[in-house]
Amino acid sequence: MSDNREPNCIFCKIVAGEIPAKLVAEDEHLVAFRDINAQAPTHILVIPRKHAKNILEVADTSLVGHLFSKAGEIAVKEQLQNGFRLVVNTGDDGGQTVHHLHIHILGGRAMSWPPG
Ligand code: AMP
Repeated sequence: MSDNREPNCIFCKIVAGEIPAKLVAEDEHLVAFRDINAQAPTHILVIPRKHAKNILEVADTSLVGHLFSKAGEIAVKEQLQNGFRLVVNTGDDGGQTVHHLHIHILGGRAMSWPPG
């Protein structure tokens, strides 16, 4: 359970089980669930249980490592060994719409570059 939840944060509500999500993985530090508006055949979000607005707000570097390491594990479990993309949108210019740190795992199709 998050010990610093933000009352209006939709991802804090998912962590608390107050709104439903299709969970893919969880442990004491993180929760992973399917994106409600998938941009690829596989689109999963990995979030820390503890609220942090974005990557600039996380002091705990081991947590950041754990989130990325778990994202890789999940990608393999989802059969994305052929390739996938991890994305961390940050701030307004970065296209972040939910202000609770999250890693997107996108896969199941070939990705283009540059992103829009
Ligand atoms: P970003 O634009 O990087 O902040 O990404 C936020 C993501 O959260 C978007 O891809 C949304 O589709 C996704 N999202 C928003 N609300 C939910 C929800 N209730 N369950 C699952 N995914 C969500």
